[in-house]
Amino acid sequence: MPPYKKTLIPGIFLLLLHTFSSYAETENRSYHHLPESTGPRFEIPDRIWPENPGDANICLWKDDKLGAVTITIDDNQAGQIDWWMEQGDKYGYRFTWFIITNWVETKGIGGTWEQFQTLIDRGHDVQSHTASHLGDKAFDIDDEYRISQEVIEKNLPGHPATALAFPGGGQSSRNDPEVAAKYFIGVRAGSSIINPVNRINYMGVNSVSGQFVFNKPKHWANLDYMIERSSQKKLYRGWYCNHFHNLNEKDRTHVLEGLTYLKEHDADFWVGLFREVAMYGQERETAEVESKVLSPNEIALSLSDHMDDKFYNVPLTVKVRLPDDWQSAIAGQDQNQIECNVITHENGKFALIQVVPDKGTVILRRD
Ligand SMILES: [Zn+2]
Repeated sequence: MPPYKKTLIPGIFLLLLHTFSSYAETENRSYHHLPESTGPRFEIPDRIWPENPGDANICLWKDDKLGAVTITIDDNQAGQIDWWMEQGDKYGYRFTWFIITNWVETKGIGGTWEQFQTLIDRGHDVQSHTASHLGDKAFDIDDEYRISQEVIEKNLPGHPATALAFPGGGQSSRNDPEVAAKYFIGVRAGSSIINPVNRINYMGVNSVSGQFVFNKPKHWANLDYMIERSSQKKLYRGWYCNHFHNLNEKDRTHVLEGLTYLKEHDADFWVGLFREVAMYGQERETAEVESKVLSPNEIALSLSDHMDDKFYNVPLTVKVRLPDDWQSAIAGQDQNQIECNVITHENGKFALIQVVPDKGTVILRRD
């Protein structure tokens, strides 16, 4: 249970209370993962520009991007790790590997722990695709999930394995979201479509198989629909996940076209790790922010959420309207300086700051 009430700025008039959904008002709850939605959790907003100095708003996605994209790779694909790393460096993007832990060090395609450690060191992520891809009958479904998590965390010390991708194929009927939810905070499982931002099923995230879909009007999973209001209203600002297996020459060309498209729309897409996006969404949907102008040179704010702090520690981007006479700003939380970028919109100045919920009051200072 996060001490969220205690971290609020004490005894002062608060300028703004911003929340995304009714979870934020649920007292005394700390979620391991959000339950499946029964309907839209909130209205899908455009970018929000707080009106008065000191007003704060939690951005729907990191850096106030319009939509989120996660690019994932299944079944270890050891022979293609170097190629993906090269593209990651070239485009400045990070990818998520979902690995079958029994294959590591035992199969050519399975790779080595050294390779997966290198991926993590380079900013990519390595998460679970079960212990045996449900192929080993000696493992029940609980074993498949639990053992894979334990093996990753043992062989990649200090690295949390809290996301899972359900295996497809002949054994896929053995997948069990309820069992998975015991161990994981995000599960890739659903259909080949875009996840509407206001009704993401975190234990069944949809993922498009083997492709980027863009510049194709009326298509079922068009990335363009995420960054413009279209007839596909519910896809605006959504989460596009895709997953790749072994890439032939033609597939590689397609991936490069997809990465180029994303780069061309870099201001609008957050290309992140699967686990980060799953954390961001759930923190955001249970978060509230309060803010207050303390003096002509200082703004205080407090961000809390209802997710279990043991598993959820990704920063949310908070946008704060600055007084007009501030040229620049710096921010600190709990004695540490935190990332703060000042941007201008229609003559107003705004700070985008990266704040981990429940880590103490943030002070924003004129610079
Ligand atoms: Zn697989």
